[in-house]
Amino acid sequence: MTMSSTMKAVIVHGPMNYQLEEIAKPTAGPGQALIKVESVGICASDLKCYHGAAKFWGDANRPAWAETEVVPGHEFVGIVEEIDDEASKRWNVVVGDRVVAEQIVPCGECRYCKRGEYWMCAPHGMFGFKRATPGAMAEYMVFPKEARVHKVSKSIKPQHAAYAEPLSCALHAVERGNIKKTDCVVVAGCGPIGLGMVIGAAAKNPAHLIALDVDDRKLAIAKECGATLTINISKEDPIKIVREMTEGYGADVYLEGTGHPSAVPQGLNILRKLGTFVCYSVFKEDVTVDWSIISDDKELDVLGAHLGPHCWPPAIAMIESGKLPLDKICTHQFPLADFQKGLDMVSSGTESIKVSLLL
Ligand SMILES: [Zn+2]
Ligand SMILES: [Zn+2]
Repeated sequence: MTMSSTMKAVIVHGPMNYQLEEIAKPTAGPGQALIKVESVGICASDLKCYHGAAKFWGDANRPAWAETEVVPGHEFVGIVEEIDDEASKRWNVVVGDRVVAEQIVPCGECRYCKRGEYWMCAPHGMFGFKRATPGAMAEYMVFPKEARVHKVSKSIKPQHAAYAEPLSCALHAVERGNIKKTDCVVVAGCGPIGLGMVIGAAAKNPAHLIALDVDDRKLAIAKECGATLTINISKEDPIKIVREMTEGYGADVYLEGTGHPSAVPQGLNILRKLGTFVCYSVFKEDVTVDWSIISDDKELDVLGAHLGPHCWPPAIAMIESGKLPLDKICTHQFPLADFQKGLDMVSSGTESIKVSLLL
């Protein structure tokens, strides 16, 4: 049997210039695995990269981090097509298994990796952003040795399995928030990350779990994900409502999942003194706030969160449980050839929540 030696893949040539091309099918070297991609989600960060955000393409203070001539796509699931004994043993997977891999491909050797802080790896290899680690908007991809691989049940839809990536990220943000049972928790944004934050925060059983968005349909899904109250911020003032609910004090924990600059001052103002602000978002623009709210006014804990370290197994278990409204979160699926439609749909941001490509 002769296998075709080329495959279809999306190639990033630079901001606003992604093309579907026929490229060489990759081959797995020693200790690696060849994966037949089933589905890849389109992330807000893919869109920010597509639109040329400074975080990806650099500015006066940062060199460009993303590279051109790369296959994008970091929220994926696929089937193991080829694997040698070494890789099979390392990841405990065999040919035919369904697998996901974490977005980061850590070097294993830098200070962070050696301390177990692999998600902050200094070289920071990432599927879909670096030439060394092509992503999943392609028929096939290779997992290098350093990839962090997890098995997923074949009984769930591929686009649901690929949601393990954003959900693990959201669960990590929730862990950073250190939520207590007595807390009033506010989640800003009901996109794929915000809904994941609601799912994760609900599992902590706080006294109040309030979801904010401007879209009533997304707020209804947040309710199904476990929000105890939803507020449409285009119609009602969330700061006033939360103060009334908390004897005037404010929220204990604010999880930012919108990526919109206005959500930052909103969070600083909605929190009580000594509250906790967790920022997961990637912002397209600079955010301007009065930092004295953080210091003088409230002595806040302001915490960043990046990727989903140690949260993949619980994210996968939650997805496999069948208890999440995943058909409502994974709203749109397109074939690979329609990737541009997918990007444009995420960009317009109104009707979709998670847009996925099915291979
Ligand atoms: Zn993502
Ligand atoms: Zn490293």
